Amino acid sequence: MPVPQSGVKILQSLRYDYYRKQDLLADVTVLLIDKVTVVTMDKQRRILTDAAIVIDQQEILSVGASEALTTQYANADRLDGNDLVAIPGLIDAHCHADQSLLRGLGDKMHWIPFLDDVVEPYLAMRDPADGVLANTLAMMEMLRGGTTCFVSPNVDPRDDYEALTGTVGRLGIRAILGRFIVPAEGPDNPDTARQTVADATAVMRQWHKSQDGLVSLWFGLMVPRVAGDTVHPEFYREVASESVRMGVGITYHFCSEIEDAEYIVDEYGVRPAEWSRDHHALGENVLLINGCQVTPLEIEILAETGTHLVHSPVANMKMGTGILPLPDVLAAGVNVALGTDGALNNNSYDMIAEMKAACLLHNAVRQNASAITAETALEMATLGGAQAIGREQELGSIEPGKLADLVLVDLKRIHSYPVHDVVSNLVFSANGSNVHTVFIGGRKVVEGGRILGLDEADVLEQARSRSEALRAKLGIAAANAWPVS
Ligand SMILES: [Zn+2]
Repeated sequence: MPVPQSGVKILQSLRYDYYRKQDLLADVTVLLIDKVTVVTMDKQRRILTDAAIVIDQQEILSVGASEALTTQYANADRLDGNDLVAIPGLIDAHCHADQSLLRGLGDKMHWIPFLDDVVEPYLAMRDPADGVLANTLAMMEMLRGGTTCFVSPNVDPRDDYEALTGTVGRLGIRAILGRFIVPAEGPDNPDTARQTVADATAVMRQWHKSQDGLVSLWFGLMVPRVAGDTVHPEFYREVASESVRMGVGITYHFCSEIEDAEYIVDEYGVRPAEWSRDHHALGENVLLINGCQVTPLEIEILAETGTHLVHSPVANMKMGTGILPLPDVLAAGVNVALGTDGALNNNSYDMIAEMKAACLLHNAVRQNASAITAETALEMATLGGAQAIGREQELGSIEPGKLADLVLVDLKRIHSYPVHDVVSNLVFSANGSNVHTVFIGGRKVVEGGRILGLDEADVLEQARSRSEALRAKLGIAAANAWPVS
């Protein structure tokens, strides 16, 4: 049997200047981005032209008129923002970052064989190195597309957490890793339930807030979806109390498809939101995924409990899993974030494309050109995401005192020019390739469309060779119907 390759080893094989991060941090002084258009996403949703943003270390120090700030901060380093638009870093609140090596292999599949025949065998058969490489590729795509923070919901217990968090640090992205946790097999024994949660939290505590605070560990929970899934009430009670004790979130797939909603109704006689409420799995630190099948009663329960929801329109449409009644959910006061879901069912991690898809889906379904507007989509991708992860005081807008997570977008391109309405162009005309420069916590992580933390060509070459080997090992063929016989 071949020896599994560790994640650390594969990272060491990638060309990387180990001193780069220290150099970058050491170089950080006051930086002034001038002559830039700023979509602030502040309370008034001000859009400033010929403006400047002043960054001091990790934070935004000031935002205002270019002329005044260039005089006030005459000694600051300068970055010419002419023709660029600054937006807050995009938050991908639901993406399986470990699936990028299987891009395109989940097409045309119903969700149950999708999980049974592709996802599960992949998790069982991959080396830790494959997991790290897949995450690396996905994180690089996210950065290139203006995503500065993401929530990966099911980080496998067998993954190489040292190498994974190490990559997060090198790339400089904010990562919320949901450590996958399910009730243990066997009888509903409170001690077993507590031990399962204790084992998970031991790992979580080790890596939570690592890499200068870029990494967070959450509970990546599972609730029953199909016959045979185990349920122990004590387990859910323990996860809820431990999440509060640790100050971390909980995320899980919820009421996503017709079958999983029906399963809960048939088995327990309640709707999924009622089941979750009864099992201590709703609340202000809970981020539910999908919710395509929610009823008006369930929307009310989510609003009452302050539970957050993440919407992935592209994956929902592609897999035909149903349509979240998004306008109703927003009208009820539920906070909604956006997520890409991942390379198996999206098949990309482009949050700008996701914003557009959210508008198109709901406008089509409601036969209403303003059911979901570009402004609402941008709110979900920034402020909604920040609130969903409990960091609205630090992230989600470009305002003094917030962390300097911001994206400079170049709209002066053939497909996104001229600009009459900057938000319209951002959501409907642009895509990830318009992203020019990205800062996270004041650190420049993308410059002129190029990743600074790792060598792109190296990662692509590793992805090619390892994904081919992986596909052969899994015995999965692409679902391409051509040529016809
Ligand atoms: Zn998912």
